[in-house]
Amino acid sequence: MELNAEQQFNDIQNNLTTVKQRIVDACKKAGRDPASVRLLPVTKTVPAERLRIAYAAGCHEMGENKIQEAREKSEVLSDLNIKWAVIGHLQTNKAKYLARFANEFQALDSLKVAEELDKRLQNEGRSIDVYVQVNSSGEASKFGLPPEGVCDFVQQLPKYSSLRIKGLMTLAIFSSDHARVRECFVKMREVQAMLRQEAPDGLSFDELSMGMSGDYELAIEEGATVVRVGQAIFGKRPLPDSHYWPGMG
Ligand SMILES: *Cc1c(COP(=O)(O)O)cnc(C)c1O
Repeated sequence: MELNAEQQFNDIQNNLTTVKQRIVDACKKAGRDPASVRLLPVTKTVPAERLRIAYAAGCHEMGENKIQEAREKSEVLSDLNIKWAVIGHLQTNKAKYLARFANEFQALDSLKVAEELDKRLQNEGRSIDVYVQVNSSGEASKFGLPPEGVCDFVQQLPKYSSLRIKGLMTLAIFSSDHARVRECFVKMREVQAMLRQEAPDGLSFDELSMGMSGDYELAIEEGATVVRVGQAIFGKRPLPDSHYWPGMG
């Protein structure tokens, strides 16, 4: 059944309230300040008209996995003051698009992309927040650097002056076994601690973007400062996750 605009507004607002309350509860449980966790609503597959409603309901930041979809929506919704975060793997030849509209890129995993993105941002006279993606689960289907490769990688980043390096991003393993999911988040904390010693001067890795609809409370317990939540706000997606993460069911 199609919901009218008012029902959609109420629906999204209720879901946001629930997610925000659960973030507060998870912070309390972990002895953390709720203000230390940012909720990034993930809007992939949600049509632009529905995003207008979401904006009215309080979503002013939106995370998109695919650059083409993000770009189209940013154009259709350019009259709104949305901050766009690209949270999926980027091909080098698409960096020019990202440089035009995104406020944030959370999936940096190669120096080729860093180089091209920096160049394109310089051309645009812009700079953006950047997170280095880490493959914390070791699954072949996941993008990101292996944890043991992060230290060498970040040594190269200071020369890309348009990239404001903020922290690390990961997708945990998809598993109903909480212990295995938690292991991924703990691994991220370890990488972060190592970077606090080894990162080049001027780069800090205070942000940890980890946790999605199914595991954000666990991620908060393990130190997430950004949680990327889609389905818990917008409802179940019509497309299977294999569309976004090749190799996944
Ligand atoms: C889709 C997606 C999310 C959000 O997943 P949900 O299950 O909808 O909460 C988080 N991070 C990335 C990289 C995504 O592509």
